[in-house]
Amino acid sequence: MKPVGILGGTFDPVHYGHLRLAEEMLELLGLESIRFIPAGNPPHRDAPGVSARHRCEMVRLAISDHSAFLLDPREAAKEGKCYTVDTLRELRRELGSDQPLCLLMGGDAFLQLHTWHEWEAIPELAHIAVGYRPGYALDTNSMEPKLHEHYRKRLCGVDRMREMPAGGIIGLAIPRLEISATMIRERVAERRSIRYLLPEPVAQYIHQHNLYTSC
Ligand code: ATP
Repeated sequence: MKPVGILGGTFDPVHYGHLRLAEEMLELLGLESIRFIPAGNPPHRDAPGVSARHRCEMVRLAISDHSAFLLDPREAAKEGKCYTVDTLRELRRELGSDQPLCLLMGGDAFLQLHTWHEWEAIPELAHIAVGYRPGYALDTNSMEPKLHEHYRKRLCGVDRMREMPAGGIIGLAIPRLEISATMIRERVAERRSIRYLLPEPVAQYIHQHNLYTSC
């Protein structure tokens, strides 16, 4: 059974770093599709610069030409705090207990996983695929000991991801584009070009709606 990928993020705004990560994971893991889930009011970081409605709209524009990329606005539509673990529980109920689910993230996000709400329940609900820079395998020394224990015990290959609905962790070497949403927000505020850092319709949306004009 092809796994369904889940890419959560603030997407404030979405950029080519996110899109390349998703495209590489789609290919390397043979995913059926990837759901982009913009966070509503993320509990583990500062409040996003623009509303969830704008962030969803930018994701919709960025992925509209890709048949396997889908916008899932469920977190953005919720009031108050919203945790990844609850979203995974919802998806598990909707998609059934046999459907392999795979939570996608960059190495930076994975190293913070132990700070997430009920994080130890997450591997029970989905596999985790971590993209790391080629030549720079994940730094296990800087992992929180409990996270390291999960990582060591659950490390698996692509085949296991199809056979089991959840429980595996896979590391994938994925070239990382040196683009961040922070960099884009700063450039817009400084009236500098953001061309080629994100899809052009998203850049136009930012300018039309005067987003990020002050950081
Ligand atoms: P900010 O600069 O506001 O912190 P960000 O660009 O890091 O934002 P997020 O929405 O926080 O974007 O990231 C969502 C996911 O995408 C995370 O799992 C993160 O590791 C991953 N990610 C972000 N930027 C890149 C990139 N350039 N290459 C690969 N993965 C990325």
